[in-house]
Amino acid sequence: MRVNPEILRFLEQKGAIIPEKGSNLHTVRLRIPGGIISTEQLLGIGRALRTRGLGAVHLTTRQTIEIPHLALEKIPPLLKALGKTGIYLGAEHEEIVNITACPGTDRCRLSNIPTNTLLERLDRLHFGREMPVRVRIAISACPNGCMSERLSEIGVTGLREPIRNEGLCTACGTCANTCREKAITMVNGRLVLDYTRCVQCGMCIDSCPFHIIRGSKPRYLVTVGGRRGRHPVIGRELVRVDSEEKAGKVVDRVVDWIYRYAYSGSTLTDQLDSMNFKGFRDRIIKEFAAVENREP
Ligand code: SF4
Ligand code: SF4
Ligand code: SF4
Repeated sequence: MRVNPEILRFLEQKGAIIPEKGSNLHTVRLRIPGGIISTEQLLGIGRALRTRGLGAVHLTTRQTIEIPHLALEKIPPLLKALGKTGIYLGAEHEEIVNITACPGTDRCRLSNIPTNTLLERLDRLHFGREMPVRVRIAISACPNGCMSERLSEIGVTGLREPIRNEGLCTACGTCANTCREKAITMVNGRLVLDYTRCVQCGMCIDSCPFHIIRGSKPRYLVTVGGRRGRHPVIGRELVRVDSEEKAGKVVDRVVDWIYRYAYSGSTLTDQLDSMNFKGFRDRIIKEFAAVENREP
């Protein structure tokens, strides 16, 4: 099948079709939001590859699939076959690339938030949008950060804050032993929470056999300007909000802000100050009624 060179150039620019080193072959990157793929789609990929004599795929760090070693003429019919199972091309350059998420409350016992509905919303609204810079969005349902969301241009982290309940603490120390941050100590037979050390992982909340510690509503921390690669940077905290709906809208606002004010040729991390990140953060905190950290 003849390949339209302009379409090929466009797809190469998007990073969906990647020329391989030292050959005329190409790798095709797919769009698999959150790495979630149905059995039918998995079988569809397997069938499409096997009928073309292709033997292996590569699972990427961004939860997607790459199909390597493709001659150009094999790409269009392969994409047509994959499209029948709802699998389409990915993206990797100056745009919103494959959005990643951990399993959240669907499976992980440490999770503080569900991730699947937020992932679906953000993928539907933003995947593939052209941007002045590459924008990775990642969601982790607790501060363990399995998705390295704080090393992404936009990160969402699920939190729960421990709150001392009324009742008799027996000073058994179970909660203190659970806390990896040494944020809980026993003082004169009483539990004392140090909120300056607490990362709101929520692990102590379910540990108390007497239900002395309860959890706040789930919270969503949105961070901006993280970066990985050869000079990694932790994203700056933008806001903490108390609902998935607000978190989604905050991310929408961040995407629009980046689209309007960022420029090509430099990473988002390096541009934040010139984009008046502080002014933007102040507006977002006010507009979305940010959840304050508890004072110690
Ligand atoms: S980030 Fe937290 S909730 Fe998500 S998979 Fe990792 S440990 Fe589980
Ligand atoms: S929420 Fe996590 S960090 Fe905070 S006190 Fe509990 S276990 Fe420690
Ligand atoms: S809060 Fe609960 S787990 Fe922690 S020391 Fe008191 S009784 Fe034990």
